[in-house]
Amino acid sequence: MSCIAVDGGPADVCANCGKGSGGEGGVKLKDCTACRLVKYCGVDCQRAHRKQHKKACKRRAAELKDEQLYGQGHERPEGNFCPICTLPIPLPIGDHSAFNVCCMKRICNGCSMAAQKRGMLDCLFCRTPIPDDDADALAMIQTRVAKRDPAAIYYLGQQYFFGKYGLQEDSRKGVELYTEAVELGSVEALFNLGVVYDDGEGVQQNKAKAAECWTKAAIQGCPLSRHKIGCVEINDRGRYDRAVKHFLIAAKMGYEDSVEAIKRLSMVGIATKEQCTEALKGYQDAVEEMKSHDRDEASALMKS
Ligand SMILES: [Zn+2]
Ligand SMILES: [Zn+2]
Ligand SMILES: [Zn+2]
Ligand SMILES: [Zn+2]
Repeated sequence: MSCIAVDGGPADVCANCGKGSGGEGGVKLKDCTACRLVKYCGVDCQRAHRKQHKKACKRRAAELKDEQLYGQGHERPEGNFCPICTLPIPLPIGDHSAFNVCCMKRICNGCSMAAQKRGMLDCLFCRTPIPDDDADALAMIQTRVAKRDPAAIYYLGQQYFFGKYGLQEDSRKGVELYTEAVELGSVEALFNLGVVYDDGEGVQQNKAKAAECWTKAAIQGCPLSRHKIGCVEINDRGRYDRAVKHFLIAAKMGYEDSVEAIKRLSMVGIATKEQCTEALKGYQDAVEEMKSHDRDEASALMKS
């Protein structure tokens, strides 16, 4: 049949009237943007075909969304890697790294400790001396904020939430800064914006908006957001199979809570034994990948 396209894409004819794009008198065809399964010669044909097409279109659009949701974001975002040793930082990231306000780089405890042993106390990344006091640090942060650095804007937002660096606690201002950082591409800010919408802190509580933030962040490689989406699937939507898929991805990125979630789900027969083994193995591989001699030494030192 001539209407089957060779490349597997939509046939080069209008799905409603059958007019083709090729040859003399050919029409210009446009994809249905929701499903990309069919083409139309114009809005009139698209409208006339809607009723007939609606079901298949919706189904395919949902499939496309899921392909993106489960297929993307298996790699941690850039800010999750130590710029010195280039390894991903173990989770929770705050326990295993320190944030330097001079350059807004997160440096792992292993690298920091190794440098200190060599007597190097300045920032390992940009060589700026560590700020003397809060005012000094805040000035550094403000300089980066003025340059529209998303990491700096997010960091300043966080300080408003906790009232640190001598700032007056102001969660509204915090939300404002998170939102700005998100617009500039901060994945960490996107996760935390989800958290504040979920809690209703400094903003009108909005669970749907929280889920939306986490979904976007999960697609960009945030394992904490991936885990949160899994929880939303269970608590709000009762979709356990989808939750397990999310937990599996986060577990393989080294997120322990997701392994624990799968273990619990397998005890009640929701996750399979195989999924449980896969999660555990994936988690252990991720942890192994994040290990280094310096990091082991640093965590041993912190424990003692
Ligand atoms: Zn047509
Ligand atoms: Zn469609
Ligand atoms: Zn490092
Ligand atoms: Zn620095």
